[in-house]
This record gives sequence, structure tokens and C-alpha cells, in this order.
Amino acid sequence: MRKNVIAGNWKMNKTISEAKEFIEATKAKIPSSDKAEAIVCAPALYLTELVKLTEGTDLKIAAQTMHYEESGAFTGEISPTALKSIGVEYAVIGHSERREYYNETDESVNKKTHAALQHGITPIVCIGETLEEREADKTNEVVGGQVEKALEGLSAEQVSTVILAYEPVWAIGTGKTATAQQANEVCTFIRNVVKEKVSAEAADAVRIQYGGSVKPANVDELLSESDIDGALVGGASLEADSFLALVEAG
Ligand code: PGA
Repeated sequence: MRKNVIAGNWKMNKTISEAKEFIEATKAKIPSSDKAEAIVCAPALYLTELVKLTEGTDLKIAAQTMHYEESGAFTGEISPTALKSIGVEYAVIGHSERREYYNETDESVNKKTHAALQHGITPIVCIGETLEEREADKTNEVVGGQVEKALEGLSAEQVSTVILAYEPVWAIGTGKTATAQQANEVCTFIRNVVKEKVSAEAADAVRIQYGGSVKPANVDELLSESDIDGALVGGASLEADSFLALVEAG
């Protein structure tokens, strides 16, 4: 049985006091992680403090991106080594906003996925098609290619521990959620790609989240689908009550 993963992606929001207030209001109310994993993807600047604040609780803290090199002349970047040294256990990799605005490519996503796993950080690898690609009937081609490239060179055991986040770009921050059925169709397709390219065991174990305008009102329907194992949530993860409702649904 795959455990659901509910991750709130704050993106570039909140001051440090707002971030701490959110964590204080939620951390004791997170249901046991035996049921589902609950994660907050926070701005890099706050990671150290939030990891400390959540120690011993079922709320985990993730980075929103990371570099693939362990160290070096990459001004402004954050290494997997640095993340690991402060106790970060998860990192979002290849979010569509990083792909669109910061030159993230399938190749860098692959390098980062390898680097995360080598450092004991669970990667949350984002994939998804644009509206034009969906309208041109290219969803499977695009998403299949992204999955294949992201996982290239990983062992089946490594792939089993990866979290994939299927986020159709047209559904992010637009209020347009894919229907549960549309979302599940692509998640099933992704699982089959993993089965074909990696192994049946890895396909069975890999968690696939859906992301794109998920909110408390639609999360149950999405999570009831056979191949959706959680949600990556932007806007609706910013308020403590809303995040808790999402986590409880997990
Ligand atoms: P949204 O963002 O929930 O605001 O659509 C999702 C994401 O970008 O991860």
C-alpha cells in the first residue's frame, strides 16, 4: 500500500513571523505520518528555523529547489549537502515555474534527482504539460518524456522512493483543476511508463501526487482515484486551516 503525501508549496510567500505562526498553528494537529506524510515546502531562508520548529512532529519541511553539485562556485544556489546538514528531508525538483523562469531542463532535473537521492533527500519531481500541449494531444508524449528523462540512470530501488508530482501547467494557480478522472488518467499513464522503463515493483511503489488548484473542496475526489497518491498544493496551502483540512483528507 502506498502512503499518500500531502505537500504545501508556499512558493515565494510569507515573512518569517508568518511562517512560524503557521507552523505553530499546525504542527501539533498533523495526524500521524503512518497515515499520510505532511510536508511544507518553504522558502530556503526559513528552512533551518522551520526544521527546528517541527522536530519530533509529523510535519516535515522541504526545499522548493536545490542545486545538483555538492559545493562550488554557484552564487546564490543551495546544495544538497547544505540541505542535508540542516535536516531537510525532501526537495521539490523541476517545478514548472522553475522550468519556465529559471532554465530548469529535463537534464538538470535528472541531475538533481540523482543528487537528492545520493544525499538521502527524497525528491518531489514535477512533470506536466502546458495547455497548448494538451490541446495538441501531446500530454502523454510530453509527460512520458519528462518522467523517462527525470528517472534516467536511477536504480529500481531508488525510483521506488521518488515522489512524482503530476502538475498540468494549465491548472496551476488558475483555479482550473483537472477533473479527478483526467488527473488519474495521466497518473496511470505515468505509472505505466515507470513499469515499462524501470520495473513493475518500482511502478507499484512510486508515489504520484496531483497538483494544480487542489483545495479542501476537491481533494477527496482526487485522492479517491486509483493512481493518485497525494497532492502538491500551492494557493490552498497558505492558510493553516486549509492546509490542515488537506492533510486530514490525506
Ligand atoms: P496551486 O499550485 O495549488 O496554487 O495551483 C500548485 C503548485 O504549483 O504546486
